[in-house]
Amino acid sequence: MKTRMKHVLSFILIAFCCAVSVTCANNKNRQNKNTGSLVVSPSQDNTSEAKKLAEGLRRKGITDKRVLAAIGNIPRHKFIDESIREYAYLDRPLPIDKGQTISQPYTVAFQTELLQLKPGEKVLEIGTGSGYQAAVLCEMEAEVYSIERFQDLHLKAKETLNKLGYHPNLFFGDGYEGLPEHAPFDKILITAAPEKIPEKLKQQLKVGGWMVVPVGGRMGQKMTVIKRVSKDKFHESEHGDFIFVPMQEGTEK
Ligand code: SAH
Repeated sequence: MKTRMKHVLSFILIAFCCAVSVTCANNKNRQNKNTGSLVVSPSQDNTSEAKKLAEGLRRKGITDKRVLAAIGNIPRHKFIDESIREYAYLDRPLPIDKGQTISQPYTVAFQTELLQLKPGEKVLEIGTGSGYQAAVLCEMEAEVYSIERFQDLHLKAKETLNKLGYHPNLFFGDGYEGLPEHAPFDKILITAAPEKIPEKLKQQLKVGGWMVVPVGGRMGQKMTVIKRVSKDKFHESEHGDFIFVPMQEGTEK
């Protein structure tokens, strides 16, 4: 099947079922952000479409100005295949390689808002995918670590992010293991759905830190926030229904 056809078909398939909100719907990482010399400046590159997307998310209930500013600055079309470029600024999940998806922008914004990220905080993302969510975290001036279990996606995301001037710490590996050598993290964000809260990741949170994770099976998940209130005590809260691709064990090419 031709690539365009394949992507359009998967778009139709996933439009209704992946990384979707059911309810609604560091600077360290980005070099030369202000000089503009090496970075593709979004102002020459679809800023108005990205800004309109952010404005739409504000109308749908996203209030965190830093999250909206980040989304308004990122050229989302750079994270997807050219053949589906026309859908890049719609509030829809879209297919990427390996049967995975770039989440719906509302879902990205909703999860990021729940993180309440402060500049300089150390955040671990599980599921780099296209790299779009990692770009949002970089725009918010966090110290970003992200793990992807597909090597091809990991390499492609690295290339995309670096071309745009974002330099998060990207790892190819199984997110269930986390990154013990870089722990503890202020925040952990999981962008695929585990059936149960991954125990090893809970242990990699700072006391006072929290994890945002869609928990549940293939039919749907509850967006869950797990706060580490002391060494052994965690507090859980739920924030609506979503559908994500499953979080799977192990790695693949
Ligand atoms: N954050 C991504 C969305 C990706 S979809 C973006 O902005 O584009 C979820 C991703 O999680 C997929 O790429 C999938 O391969 C990855 N994933 C699933 N299980 C994983 C695991 N155990 N470790 C790391 N990545 C995983």
